[in-house]
Parts: sequence; structure tokens; C-alpha cells
Amino acid sequence: MMIDEQGTRAQTTEIEAASLLLERWGLIASMTEIGSLGDQVFEGALQDGGRVALKVYAIGQDTEALDAERAAVEQLKAAFPELALPLDINPLDDQLVRVHGRIARVVEWVNGETLGKAAYLTPDTIVELGRTAGRCTAGLATFGHPGLARESPWDLKSALSTLAEARGELPDSVSPLVDQALAVLHVSKQRLDLDQLPQQAVHCDVTDWNVLGSKRADSSFAITGIIDFGDMVWTWRACEIVAAAHAAIAREPHDPLGALLSALSGYREIVSMTETEAECLWHLMLRRAAVCAALESIEHASDPTNGYVAHLATMDVAALQAMLAIHPAHAAAVVRVALGYGPTRVDLATALAASPITPMIAPAAQTSVSSVWGETEYSDGPEALHPHPQALQTFIRLKAPTGTPVVAPLDAVVLKARIGEAVLSLSCGNESLVLTLQGMDHQLTIGGHISRGEILGTVQGAPAAQNGELLVHAAAEENLPLNGAVRDKAALAAICPDPSPLLGIVAREHQTIDAAAVRKKYVAPSQSLYYAEPAQIVRGRGQWLWDRHGQRLLDVVNNVASVGHAHPRITEAAVDQLTLHNTNSRFLYDATAEFAELVAGTLPEELQSLFFVNSGSEAVDLALQLARTFTARPDVVVLEGTYHGWTSEVFELCTMPADRPDWQQTLSPRVRVAPTPDPYRGQFGDNAEAYLDALREVIGSAESPSNIAAFISEPLFGSHGGVTPADGYLRAAYKEIRATGAVCIADEIQVGYGRTGQTFWAFEAEGVVPDIVVAAKAVGNGHPIGFVACKPEIADVFARTRAFFSSSGGGPVSCRIGSAVLNIIREENLQENAQVVGRHIKQGLTALAMKHSAIGAVHGRGLYMGIDLVAAQGSTAPMPEAEVMAICERLRRLGVITQPTGIHLNVLKVKPPLCITTEDADYFIQQLDRTLADLGQPPLTSPLAALQESTE
Ligand code: PMP
Repeated sequence: MMIDEQGTRAQTTEIEAASLLLERWGLIASMTEIGSLGDQVFEGALQDGGRVALKVYAIGQDTEALDAERAAVEQLKAAFPELALPLDINPLDDQLVRVHGRIARVVEWVNGETLGKAAYLTPDTIVELGRTAGRCTAGLATFGHPGLARESPWDLKSALSTLAEARGELPDSVSPLVDQALAVLHVSKQRLDLDQLPQQAVHCDVTDWNVLGSKRADSSFAITGIIDFGDMVWTWRACEIVAAAHAAIAREPHDPLGALLSALSGYREIVSMTETEAECLWHLMLRRAAVCAALESIEHASDPTNGYVAHLATMDVAALQAMLAIHPAHAAAVVRVALGYGPTRVDLATALAASPITPMIAPAAQTSVSSVWGETEYSDGPEALHPHPQALQTFIRLKAPTGTPVVAPLDAVVLKARIGEAVLSLSCGNESLVLTLQGMDHQLTIGGHISRGEILGTVQGAPAAQNGELLVHAAAEENLPLNGAVRDKAALAAICPDPSPLLGIVAREHQTIDAAAVRKKYVAPSQSLYYAEPAQIVRGRGQWLWDRHGQRLLDVVNNVASVGHAHPRITEAAVDQLTLHNTNSRFLYDATAEFAELVAGTLPEELQSLFFVNSGSEAVDLALQLARTFTARPDVVVLEGTYHGWTSEVFELCTMPADRPDWQQTLSPRVRVAPTPDPYRGQFGDNAEAYLDALREVIGSAESPSNIAAFISEPLFGSHGGVTPADGYLRAAYKEIRATGAVCIADEIQVGYGRTGQTFWAFEAEGVVPDIVVAAKAVGNGHPIGFVACKPEIADVFARTRAFFSSSGGGPVSCRIGSAVLNIIREENLQENAQVVGRHIKQGLTALAMKHSAIGAVHGRGLYMGIDLVAAQGSTAPMPEAEVMAICERLRRLGVITQPTGIHLNVLKVKPPLCITTEDADYFIQQLDRTLADLGQPPLTSPLAALQESTE
């Protein structure tokens, strides 16, 4: 027995705990103490493999409260039998057991990891946390017990007094923040009807450390149990979701409203919230955040060595800070909309429409709107990497001649007056509206009264400028921000309405198509999209894309936009030619000749006959026709695990399980499949000779004379993630194929056009010259252009037997764009950039592979690479698809787009636009590093042999 410093509090030893368990509960277990902050907790491992928890409470534990816990757990279990809960295991004599004067109790062990240990919370996990809070609310709705009537610092009803008491003990670094929270709480309390909040028994701590479960393969967390009913109390019902949502915010403080919305959506599946609850929710959230930050900080200050408390205090202070940065009216409106209660009680738009208004700018003035309400700003800054940046503008920007008078649209009082800026309170019916004007010269003074129609000032302009820009923002309250998240548009519309009516202009209708719903209705489902929640891309520049939320995403996947998104020279070429004409390809154009000459210049002199088409599939289809016509034979040899296009003839060649799961059962007799000489995953490792033997067998099984028309392959295996063929394979394979009289087709649709850095065409690095080359994708930088280049004798035989005409293949717009792409690649040194930045990325990824066991190998060269993810260190077993997708989802939230490829869909594609910079490449590597670290894979213990794979 140990006596504490005061000599009063006896501690129970593990041996004492074991004998107590045997004596009073009849259970034999080995006991391990797992926590001792006031209460002591022992984990008891029973002989049959089961576990129990023995709790020894601090002196003075309220026995009624303990009984309430027991009864509540039983009631919740009856309501949700699937939930694992700490049900009491009763003592044999049904009496309270005491040890050293302290109450002891045994409960069932709840299996699982705590959610607190997860590296991050996905939105789905937060939804589940909200749902779990909902189950507590629903399960305890009818629960009553005298033990619930107790005081708890976590009861939000007493939060203001708890905070007031805590103030004196707060560390200096935290007290201003808590004071700020108190000030906000006191103001908002006046407006709220807290007495109308429904009350019931509340667990009060459904947080990440008290919910247990397991991580799913997709990184979300399946919650299966709840523990620790020690903070349960009779209070406002909403406190349950408030505690859970606050825990989520503390984990994801970069987007408090996003975390709150996810938690609410899960909660609402089970509990419907009243309008008063909706109104008061943010106020309660702030109470919880302030109490947590204050009490944790005090505890941390009293015991700085306790790492767990230090961690909680840091997180809770950051959460409070993040929440205080949000205007309460903004948060309240977002909550109301989310809970289906319409924006606010005050409909400003209606009040505005009903008030007689004098237009701020005379209709005759020469004005134009340069930025409308609701427009999204696409920023290049780091803030735009956030999944929900503050990109939506809730103001109007008006261009007007410098000096144009600006008049008061309604009676007004001046709230703020700075150079070039004024903030006014407008009387609008029974409501008031805060009007902010920026870009206005004025003589206004704070407190000044202005009547409707009086001049406020004039449009400001730079000294020599004819026009100035006036920003006009209307809001329900002062200090509401000019921008918000696109996600919160409906709520923002209510608190910062479109000021068009004040300006006397017609408000623009903000009708946006629900692209997901309409697409789902009309676009056939086999045309799948990236990501569980598809990214809606609205803008592109270089290697960056922006989605409709304004999130800036580094495009690591797009080898089509090879010279970069929205390249101005391509736009110019297209616009220029479209302005002239875009007729079919049966006329003579300079554009076709120029493009043909440029393309021919990139190819070996043997391959100077060109056909222009619209897509890769069309190019491969034509290549097959050329080969079959030239050889007068039907069969084609392909490599396993490849995709060459979708047309009927070409799809026959598809051996990629993701695109054609039943390829083995439905294989055409005209198609012969040889093993892919993949040094990492292939059946013969890097033994080129063994793959060649297998190829010979495939060829040899042809009837005599041979039926084989062609062998088609990518020179660098793009669909495998940029795998380089086993050394010497392609040279020898071409020789074997040609010996049968068949031709060799190189599919350069993914890997060609300067992408591999070292050479313009990937086949050049293999030391081969194909008989036919197909190219597309990068050729038009997204515009549909493809071509086939072949030996003239092949084209001649074709010309003798059939005509070829692809209406817009080789049309003038396509050719102008095609020429622009080739000129840009040359003039902007993009092939060289592919080599330099590609090498940099390869080095960075190789270093990551030394750190993270999830990376089995890094394939490829230049800017065509693949990150091969494995299930465990030292094994090539692919990482399960769901885990790979979770990595892609996480990277997207961090501002990076990549997707899986390969036979097992476990290889991350690295094939960005060729203009990617070293700096952006580093951003990608850092985010991947972070994502893999969060996966919680064991650290690497030895360098991997796979990384010895040759680089350039
Ligand atoms: N060949 C390869 C290697 C490809 O990856 C693709 C398309 N992913 C194609 C051909 C077909 O090209 P397209 O989609 O332009 O028809």
C-alpha cells in the first residue's frame, strides 16, 4: 500500500487489485494499472482471454452519480445493442465495494482503438462522431436518475461562472483569449433564448478519446463503442453534439465550420434539432471551446510534465482561437442553413426590396460591374490550397469615372471613416444594414447623420486614372468578412446580401447548374470520375487547377495538358484560327503543312508518313488497320496489363483489369498476350531473356505461315505507372516480331512528346525504331488531336486498298494548336524541364521511400513516374485499393491531385504538366510525406532493394 504526500490517499497496488477482483467478483485476472488521475483504472486480463476494467475512485466519489452511470449505460445498450459499452459487472453481494475507503467497481472492457489516436479525422469520420453523439442523445432521451443532478465544470449551463472562476488561474498566454470569448458570450447570450433549450441526460464527453473502434481501409474510422460516462449530467441536450463537434474542431482547426457541419450532419441522421438549438449552437460551441481551453491550460500549468494534458491544452487553445476568428453571425447563419431553418430571422433581402432607395450611383454615370456578388476568387496564394478557402466574394466591385458622386441609398449614420473607406449603418425598414464602401474619397466623420440621397463622397482613382473602382459590401452586422467559403454561400447571402439594389442595378441571378445531379441523370455511368466526391474544375493555369470552391490543386496527373493548362499561346492560336475558319481536312491549308513538318522533325527519317486523327483510340485503331492491311494477317501480340483505347478493335487488346475485368474470358482469338517485362512485379523479375522466351512461345503458337500482323506496346509501360522494360527486351522483341514478317507499333500516347526528358520519344531510349508510332493526348494539350506516323511503304499499301478521311483530324484549328504545342515545348525548354524536375522528383521520392515502408518502388523517368505502394515492407504485395484511394483523397485535401494506376491500382501516377517547377514538385513531395506519415505505417528498417532500380 502506498500513502501519498498528505498521508491520506491510499493507492491500490496491482496485486491488491487482482485479489479484490477475485474476492469480490470471483474473477481471476492479471491486473495492469492504466491511468491514475484522481481515479485509478486497472486493465484486468482474464484467464479466458477476455478483459475487464477495475476502477477505484477518488475519495468523495458521489455514489448516486456512479449508479446513474450504471443505469445510463444499461439504457443506452438496450437502445443500441450493437454499441460496445462499459456495462457494470456486479459484485456478488450487490453492495458497493470499497478499498482503502475508496469505491471500486468493475465494468466490461470496451475493445478498440480510441479515435484520439487517428492521425487525422476525415470528414466521414467526423460525420460518424456526430452520429455517435446522436445515439447518446436518442438513447438517453428518456433517462432520468437522481445522480444526474450534480455540478460539473463541463456542464455548459455553468460555463460562464466556470470561466469567471478560472480567470484568476489562467496562464498569461491564454487569458486574453478567454476574455475575448467571455465578451462574445456575454453579448450573444442577450439575444438567445437559452431557457428554451431542451434538456436531458447528456454523456457530455463523446469526444475522440472516449469513442473506440477501428480504422477502415479507406482511412475513415468505424466507431463501435463509447466509454467514460463519468461526466454525465442533466443539462441542455445540445451539449452532446457540441462536445463532439468541438473535439472534431480541435483536431481539424483549419476549418472549424467544416468540422462542425460534418458532425451536425451525422447527428441529424438520428436527432432533429429545434430552431432554438440551431440559434444557440454556436454560442454553446464557444462556451465549450472556452471552458476546454481554460481548464486544460490551468491543468497544464499545474503539471507541465504531463504530455497528454499539454497536447490537449495546445489543441484546445488553437481551436478556441480558430473559432473566435469566425464572426458569430456568420457561424450562426451557417448552422441555421445546415439545420434546415433558413438563413436568419431577419430577411435583409426582403427588407431592402421593401425600402425606398436612392441609387448610390446615378443611372446616367458610365459604370460597369467588374466583380459581381457571389463571384469566386481564384487565388495563387497558399491560402487557396485549403479545401474550402475564403474565396467567395460577398461584395460588388464597380468601375466608374473618377469623381463620380456616391450618394446615401438610405438614411445613414457613419460608423467608421478612414481614408478611402467608410462604414455606415443604414436604416432599412425596421432593420439596419451595415454598408462598407472602399475606394471612395469622402469627408465623413464618425457619428455623422446622412439623409437618403445626400452625397457621401466620390469614386476615388489613381492620379492619372480616368476610372476608379468602388467596392460595395452590405452586411447584417459590423465586421462581417468580405469573403467566405463557397460552401457557405446560402448563409452568406443572408448575412451579407447582394448590394445591387442599393446601387440601382439589377442583381445578377446566381443560377448554377447542379453538375453532379445533371451529369448523373444524363451521362452514362461507365464514364467514371476521379474521387468519391468528384472535383469540379473551373480554372487551370500551368500545373495548377482550381475547383469550384476556389481550392488550388497541384495537377500531378495530367500528361494531356503537357505544356500547362490554359497556355495563352494555345488560346491565341485557337482563337485566331477559329476567327478565320475551321473547315474539314479535305482542303489545302498552310496549318496542316506547318504541323506536319514540325511533327516529322521529331521523328526518325524512316517514319515520315503521317495520318492525322482526333484521339489516341482512333490512332491505335488506324495503326491496327495499317498493320493488318500491310501484312494481310489478323493477329496482334500485346503485353499483359495494358490499355490502348476504347474502339471495338482496340478494346480487343485491353488486358487492364480495371478497364476490362473479364479480359481473360473474353479474349479474341486474334489477340495474343505476352507477359509484361516488368522488372519489379513481372513474373520473371528483370530477366529479359525469360520474357523473350515467353514472347517466342506466344509467337510460335501461331499457325505457319504466321498469322501475326503486329506487336504493340508502350516503350515505357505507362499503364503500369512508368515501368521501364527489362533491359534489352524491346530491342530483342522487335527483332523476333519482324522475323515473322509482322510490324512493331509503339504506343507513345501517354509517354511520348518530351515527357521522359532524356528523349522526345520514349522508344528512342530503348534503342528501337518502330514501324508505326501512335501519339495523341499531349499533341493537342487537351484539344483532340492524334496522329499515326509510319514507314512510307506501309502507308502506300494502305492507300492502294482504301481511302482514309477523318473529318476534323488534321483540320486547321487542330493543326494550329498542334504546331503551337510543339513550338512551346521547344521554346520553353519543356523537355529539358521534364528531365531536370523529373530527376528532382525522383530523388525526393526515393528519399521518401527510405522513410516510408508503404513505398515499394519508384518507377519511371522524366515526368512520367509511378509510386508503387505496397502492403508491407519488403513485400511487393500491393497496398489494398481502398488505402490507395484514401491516400489520394487525403492528398486532394492537401491540394494535390494524383490517381492510381497499374494492374492492382496501387501505383500513384506522377505525370504533371511539363512546366511544373522544382518548388511545386517539393510541395507535392512534402504533402505525400505528410500523408504517408499519417498512415501510421511502421518506419522503414532497411533500405529497399527495389530502390536500386535504375534512374536516368
Ligand atoms: N493508348 C494509351 C497508352 C492510353 O493510355 C490511352 C488513353 N488513356 C489511349 C491509347 C487512348 O487514347 P484516347 O483516350 O485519346 O482515345
